[in-house]
Amino acid sequence: MLSLREVSVAYDGKAAVEDVSLELADGEVLALLGPSGSGKSTLLRAVAGLEPATGEISWDGRSLRGVPTHKRGFALMFQDGQLFPHLSVANNVAYSMRLRRIPAAGRAERVADLLELVGLGGYQDRLPGTLSGGERQRVALARALAVEPRLLLLDEPLSALDAGLRERLAGDLRRILHEAGTTALMVTHDQEEAFAVADRIALLRDGHLVQEGTLREVWAHPTDAWAALFLGYARVLEGTAAYPVLKAAGMDPADAVALRRSAFVADPKGPLTGTVISARATPEQHRLVVRLDDVGEVDAVADSAPAPGESVRLRVEPNRLAIPGPYARESVE
Ligand code: ADP
Ligand code: MG
Repeated sequence: MLSLREVSVAYDGKAAVEDVSLELADGEVLALLGPSGSGKSTLLRAVAGLEPATGEISWDGRSLRGVPTHKRGFALMFQDGQLFPHLSVANNVAYSMRLRRIPAAGRAERVADLLELVGLGGYQDRLPGTLSGGERQRVALARALAVEPRLLLLDEPLSALDAGLRERLAGDLRRILHEAGTTALMVTHDQEEAFAVADRIALLRDGHLVQEGTLREVWAHPTDAWAALFLGYARVLEGTAAYPVLKAAGMDPADAVALRRSAFVADPKGPLTGTVISARATPEQHRLVVRLDDVGEVDAVADSAPAPGESVRLRVEPNRLAIPGPYARESVE
């Protein structure tokens, strides 16, 4: 288990990460999510031992202070997988095994298994130059997993890929990490990616941890308007604007009180009808932008994703509705 207690990193006296405390259980995948410059990579590098930090970083209760990067038993994977161009796929994957002196016998079989796991069965003899960007990242992932790291550190592993491929690989990455039982800490600035890959999310802003929890917890109860907007709520409702929306949604006006206390809690009692304007699916949830009669456009979540433009009956669950309000998405960052 990885444990961070009040970890801070400063550059030239200026804090890039401040007082971050976190725990990561074995087999869990945690996304460090936040906008550019929020300290995600800095924190990841501190965990890797590449950045001097104050506070305590420990593994299974043992401090990692003074333990060099290569002795931590962690593997790193970056945005650009950094394969060796002159080595075959098989040799790229086997490279770290050789470094760790894993016996040659069984290496080829292990490479084949790993390539199978990342969906590249039979790619052993290809050179990196002949692979697509997505295939290269899969090889980089296989290489990182080859030594069975006790912790895999991923820094924006999908950011260099185009959108469609990124979405597909995000789902694959989740499956691969779970199948391999890998404990992983993934840095990303992309909330869709965080939701698609991770079990839990740690939200960073200006070097501070602003919220941490399971996907469901973080999604259902963003800690404040900033967090809600960054997590992908299109709009956040506050104050008396709640009333007409609640009425139109067939909710008890008493709910408006709760709505005002916590800008994000809505508790509609009945079904809503609307037209889907756009839909995005992740393994966890289908996020929809829906136009509702007399309400306008809202973000919502459904159990299945209807096609854009399709008329749907939308079951809105408690805490899953963000309603148009004074905050525009553009105001984030
Ligand atoms: P993120 O990964 O969330 O985009 P970083 O961790 O890379 O953010 O950076 C956090 C802050 O620390 C930024 O303000 C960045 O400019 C600063 N920073 C990062 N690396 C260095 C460095 N090597 N020297 C000085 N400042 C740095
Ligand atoms: Mg970064």
